[in-house]
Amino acid sequence: MRDPADIAARDEGKIKMRSRSAGSTSHRWLTATRAVFYGGLITALVMVLLCATVLYHSRQDALDRTRETSRNVALIAERDIERNFELYALSLQSVVDGLGNAEVMALPAHLRRHFLFDDAATARNLGSMLVLDARGNIIIDAANDVPRKGNFADRDYFRVHRDNPGAGLYVSAPFQSRLQNGSPSIALSRRVSHADGSFAGIVVMAINLDYFHQLFAGLSLGSHGAISLIATNGLMIMRQPYDPKVIGRDISKASTFRHFRSAPEGSFSDISSIDGVSRFYYFRNFPDLPLIMMVAEAESDIYAAWHRRALTIGSLMVVLAVGFVALSFVVTSQLRHRMRAESELQMLARTDSLTGLNNRRTLGEILDREWRRATRTRGVFSLLFVDIDRFKAYNDTYGHQAGDHAIAAVARCIGENIRRPADTAARYGGEEFIVVLPDTSPDGASVIAEKIRLAISELAIEHAGSEYGRVTASIGLASWKPDQEADVTTVIKAADEALYNAKVTGRNKVAVSL
Ligand code: GH3
Ligand code: MG
Ligand code: MG
Repeated sequence: MRDPADIAARDEGKIKMRSRSAGSTSHRWLTATRAVFYGGLITALVMVLLCATVLYHSRQDALDRTRETSRNVALIAERDIERNFELYALSLQSVVDGLGNAEVMALPAHLRRHFLFDDAATARNLGSMLVLDARGNIIIDAANDVPRKGNFADRDYFRVHRDNPGAGLYVSAPFQSRLQNGSPSIALSRRVSHADGSFAGIVVMAINLDYFHQLFAGLSLGSHGAISLIATNGLMIMRQPYDPKVIGRDISKASTFRHFRSAPEGSFSDISSIDGVSRFYYFRNFPDLPLIMMVAEAESDIYAAWHRRALTIGSLMVVLAVGFVALSFVVTSQLRHRMRAESELQMLARTDSLTGLNNRRTLGEILDREWRRATRTRGVFSLLFVDIDRFKAYNDTYGHQAGDHAIAAVARCIGENIRRPADTAARYGGEEFIVVLPDTSPDGASVIAEKIRLAISELAIEHAGSEYGRVTASIGLASWKPDQEADVTTVIKAADEALYNAKVTGRNKVAVSL
């Protein structure tokens, strides 16, 4: 024979809790927990998205401002160049006109020079101003009554007019002036024709590149900006930052140049073919001159302030978002903690503390629910009434505490022998239990009752005061069939009567209500 305390201790924690927790309250808590958690996540996400949108727009603003600034700078430079070139072109034209005037040509050399060139040749940044004959030799020199010696038949500005009568005003490629100690220049030239239209030579005016150099140096474009004047054939005329090696370079194959020629004006981002710096380019093709103005700001300059702001705001936002998520985690875990505590409390309120089975209050609810279901579905409904035999004697012999252990052990036997989810066991009071078996026929219920009876007996808990020498239980079984008029108390009463029969006919047996 075994001690019931051992059995109880062995199975501690294995008690099959047959009570249902109050689902609606825990569902409410779960919803609140989820709401806080996802609310926190979504708020953090919205904050990050908002911040990203604001930063994206302020980055676009920086680019728009750059486009405006570059356009203004390009326009200022273009206007200056255009105005000067217009004056130069007029001077050239007046020389061409004068050359065709016999009276002018008949004047003494110093007067003729004065008449032809006016004071144009003395303008700042202007180099030599010459009239060349059809072979490229200087025939009139703005600087001297006796022309300096020189032949420029090799220069592009000479060949263009000689080979192309319709060339008009020509802007040459940069060259090093032979008459000005090699100073870098470009030339503006016009063709001079004989009365029959044949080539008589050219009028040429050299413009010192210093002019562009000074013009560009006065324009501020950030520490890595660049400003260039490029001929439409791809030759670099002037570039700031200034590098003599770049002047005259052919950039017609560069990707940037292809952009310059794609539209009258525009902007784009690209990497410079000259110094490899990534820049935002603004360009304008001069409407009346074969020139392109290009103003480019380095992307590192454009976005420098934005980068600093984005870093500050972005990291602040990340900290805030992380803080928010962390906070919602904390609140969520607090809520979960409370939810667990509450459902444990609910569980306790529904459970018998000694046996872990449903208590009498819960039994009332279960009976109510299962009875309604059975009447609705017209299913068979069985009920067992279990009572430990001669338990008063057990208590008297072994003490109340041992009695409690025995009750717990018997309860466990009952719990372990009902398998279906709808089957429920409850402590009815004292050493009495009720097992509710919905959708179970009297035969099926008998089998379960017999299993329970046998399992209790096989616990082999010593009971000297029992005729069986061990703890046993009697079980009364009652069933309700759909065709019977009854209510649940009738069924309980019938089970109780069957139990009484089991008691009077020898105990440790299952009796079925008739
Ligand atoms: P029977 O075979 O006819 O059922 O005899 P019985 O002694 O079991 O019947 P009775 O109803 O007269 O006695 C029930 C006893 O169960 C009375 C009480 O001593 C004991 N009891 C009831 N509740 C508890 C409990 O919670 N703990 C303990 N230890 N004993 C209890
Ligand atoms: Mg009793
Ligand atoms: Mg009893």
